[in-house]
Amino acid sequence: MAKERLYLFDTTLRDGAQTNGVDFTLADKLAIAGMLDELGIDYVEGGYPGANQTDTELFASERKFNSKFTAFGMTRRPGRSASNDPGLAALLEAKADAICFVAKSWDYHVRVALQTTEDENIASIRDSVRAAKAKGREVLLDCEHFFDGYKANPKFAMACAKAAFDEGARWVVLCDTNGGTLPHEIEKIVGDVVKIIPGDHVGIHAHNDTEQAVANSLAAVRAGARQIQGTLNGLGERCGNANLVSIIPTLKLKPEFADAVETGVTDAALKKLAQISYALDERLNRAPNRNAPYVGASAFATKAGIHASAIAKDPATYEHVLPESVGNRRKVLVSEQAGKSNVLAELERVGIKADKDDPRIGRLLDLVKEREAIGYAYEAADASFELLARRTLGKVPAYFDVVQFDVNVEQRINAKGERVTVTLAVVKLKVGDDDLISAAEGNGPVNALDLALRKDLGKYQKYIDDLKLTDFRVRILNGGTGAVTRVLIESEDAAGERWTTVGVSPNIIDASFQALMDSIIFKLVKSGAPA
Ligand SMILES: [Zn+2]
Repeated sequence: MAKERLYLFDTTLRDGAQTNGVDFTLADKLAIAGMLDELGIDYVEGGYPGANQTDTELFASERKFNSKFTAFGMTRRPGRSASNDPGLAALLEAKADAICFVAKSWDYHVRVALQTTEDENIASIRDSVRAAKAKGREVLLDCEHFFDGYKANPKFAMACAKAAFDEGARWVVLCDTNGGTLPHEIEKIVGDVVKIIPGDHVGIHAHNDTEQAVANSLAAVRAGARQIQGTLNGLGERCGNANLVSIIPTLKLKPEFADAVETGVTDAALKKLAQISYALDERLNRAPNRNAPYVGASAFATKAGIHASAIAKDPATYEHVLPESVGNRRKVLVSEQAGKSNVLAELERVGIKADKDDPRIGRLLDLVKEREAIGYAYEAADASFELLARRTLGKVPAYFDVVQFDVNVEQRINAKGERVTVTLAVVKLKVGDDDLISAAEGNGPVNALDLALRKDLGKYQKYIDDLKLTDFRVRILNGGTGAVTRVLIESEDAAGERWTTVGVSPNIIDASFQALMDSIIFKLVKSGAPA
């Protein structure tokens, strides 16, 4: 049986822009639209032309995407004609392939919020769809509060949806605007709607207020809807929108959906999903959610000893899909409770050959336990674990030596009479027979030290040029004799590979220095730099 086409509509740049703390620039919007296009999303909703400067600029020029670039806005205001509504005019002028209107479909909102009649609300939908069609745009109608509206007055909610469809709107999108509807209710109501409007013209727009936006979207598809609206990483106001990063792999990898529908996302594009999810977080300067389904760093990480040994025999024993299919990877966590099997499985994964009877494996296990007891967290710092393992097995070259470093923090009054804090770090290195000294100023001691350390590594400089620190996390741990600081540093290179290193010390600069050193040495090992 031929599969039915299911369309994906991304609203990261419009509804996702409502997220607390998110503020997209024009450059952000264009970069994210490019990522969505690369992923194979059918519709990319760019924003609300006329609502703010960024969105107006975004829709002032032609944007060339394979995805249909979509402008969002309201239907004409009640009591006005379509030709005499500046908001609608701005929307019709926007350089977009499609227009997504939003309109009320709950009688209560029409009365209280809009203070108009049901007939006028429906006339406004008809007029607006007609005006956009006349402009040659593909038209979508978001029916706001559709599910609450349907429960209160099914006849009116349906009349709103039907009016748009009858005027030639390509899609009628049913919105769970408050996000409080449950999956079985969604399935039932969408089932009613597709008896009147064919499912291949019906979409779902779910919010996550009961943490079921993904489930609600899938319930709508089960009932016959053929468009899903959502955002990358579930961005959106309050609890967010339906997370396309979870929905897409479910549609593609779970037979119930994969056998019935197909999307514009290819298998090859699916393998970039984890990377795209990280790239968005990085652009927003947010730490990625480690527990995110499919793409999170912990999504395929196993800790307990018996699970790890089973995974080493056959991954399918504890994994619901292959991590590689979404661009993620399997990880066996090495922790205080680690058994030999964890250590061996992890060594194998990172490509270190080791004999299970090698006494050095036992020594490595003891080292991990000892160090975790004083605050190291190897399960969160895979690169530091790999280095510890390689060192124990005698496989890390002594690339360079830090002979001495010095960090000076000074607060003083500058020439303008302002109180400023200046940080200077000086690092003395020995690389082969060369003595190198680098100095750098930074916005703080760790930043200055990092800049100085990476400024001149002599013959190794070319291997670390593309090294970038992407996250820096500090935690104070209360040990028996006093507080110690644990620093976790996440790094990335031009190939998009990411790794985490750890340092522990009562002194935050010492702890940071250890983590920085591990990151640099890990990069040299990974790049195959000669000793
Ligand atoms: Zn919404």
